Amino acid sequence: MAGHVFGRSSAAMPTAVSGEGCYIRDAEGRSYLDGSGGAAVSCLGHSDPDVRAAIHDQLDRIAFAHTGFFTSEAAEGLADLLIANAPEGVEKVYLLSGGSEAVEAAIKLARQYFLETGEPERHRVIARRQSYHGNTLGALAAGGNAWRREKYAPLLVETSHIAPCYEYRLREDGESAEDYGLRAANELEDEIARLGPETVMAFIAEPVVGATAGAVPAVRGYFKRIREICDRHGILLILDEVMCGMGRTGTLFACEQDGISPDIVTVAKGLGAGYMPIGAMLCSGRIFGAIEGGSGSFQHGHTYHGHPLAAAAGHAVLSAILGRELLPQVRQRGEALTDRLQATFGQHPHVGDIRGRGLFRGIELVADRGTKAPFDPELKLHAKVKKAALAEGLICYPAGGTIDGKHGDHILLAPPFIISEDQIGELTDKLSRAIDAALAA
Ligand code: PMP
Repeated sequence: MAGHVFGRSSAAMPTAVSGEGCYIRDAEGRSYLDGSGGAAVSCLGHSDPDVRAAIHDQLDRIAFAHTGFFTSEAAEGLADLLIANAPEGVEKVYLLSGGSEAVEAAIKLARQYFLETGEPERHRVIARRQSYHGNTLGALAAGGNAWRREKYAPLLVETSHIAPCYEYRLREDGESAEDYGLRAANELEDEIARLGPETVMAFIAEPVVGATAGAVPAVRGYFKRIREICDRHGILLILDEVMCGMGRTGTLFACEQDGISPDIVTVAKGLGAGYMPIGAMLCSGRIFGAIEGGSGSFQHGHTYHGHPLAAAAGHAVLSAILGRELLPQVRQRGEALTDRLQATFGQHPHVGDIRGRGLFRGIELVADRGTKAPFDPELKLHAKVKKAALAEGLICYPAGGTIDGKHGDHILLAPPFIISEDQIGELTDKLSRAIDAALAA
């Protein structure tokens, strides 16, 4: 390859030429088990015939009609299906081209809501450390990953970050999980009081933290208390389900398992399953109603928002998730994956924690299991695991910097929902060899 592509990929990497089910093949004929769906994207695996047919069918009719002039059957069909399966109170869908766009739209919608409802002083966002909400400037400002923010700090709007709900590292000895969850959630109330409730418009969080932590769910009760605090202070709750949504955790929306409904929720990755770039922001009828009854429309838009090809792909993916009964399968295979991970790594001297929900699992690597001391970040162990896994023919998603870039290494696993039990065995065996090779390197 000439190597003119500029970005994360480079000519030094293998060239992906085809995909089938849970495997990707490169130009040299090597096959890779996709143990992370890229970055929790390929939930249906590669080359799904129904999704391909839906995209072809839409392409044969019309590829694009600008949303300033038209809606499309594809966009309406997808929105209907999303809302029919959305958390209570969530009634409207705004289609976008990815996760960062969805988060940007969510933040702007929250701001416009308070303008429409006569509270123009509300403009602050509270988020959490150890979170990722995207790479565009608004989403990056919300995110709590110190390393990603550092270079762009002067460009980022000021955002408050409270601690994440991260049981493995932040629950104190002798503290019950429930007490810890309440303590972690109550930080939000303290921060609201510090800023002045009348200035705060939204709290944003990932129900299960993905890229920045490695599949960390909140403890039971945490989000219920968060919901109460937001309601008490009239603050909107934005849940970022770009990574953990669309069935990844075993329910269509991860927040269903926390027993709460958000005011705004963002989804992306698994919505297009990698077949098309698509994201969505869903909001409550209350928010939509305030805007419709006020200035009339959300002051936002992108050229490709509601793109018919992307919407057709999203509709086919969601139909497959629901119609093929993949949600119970995610729950069952998720248990099988956890069992295999426990059997393989449960006693491993450098695996501190195995966590997650459904087919969204994380492993935290530690230098010392007893003290939970992380490895020296200079070792870049996560990068070594990624390289060793590729050499084994496995794609997994390792990352470093668990809290504000200071702690540890983790590996995120998010295989396609169609992964078989044998392939789960293949995944854990390859991962085990890759971790040992990385530790020895
Ligand atoms: N939010 C979350 C929770 C994510 O995991 C990501 C992507 N990793 C984003 C937002 C940004 O999505 P995108 O890369 O599609 O812009």
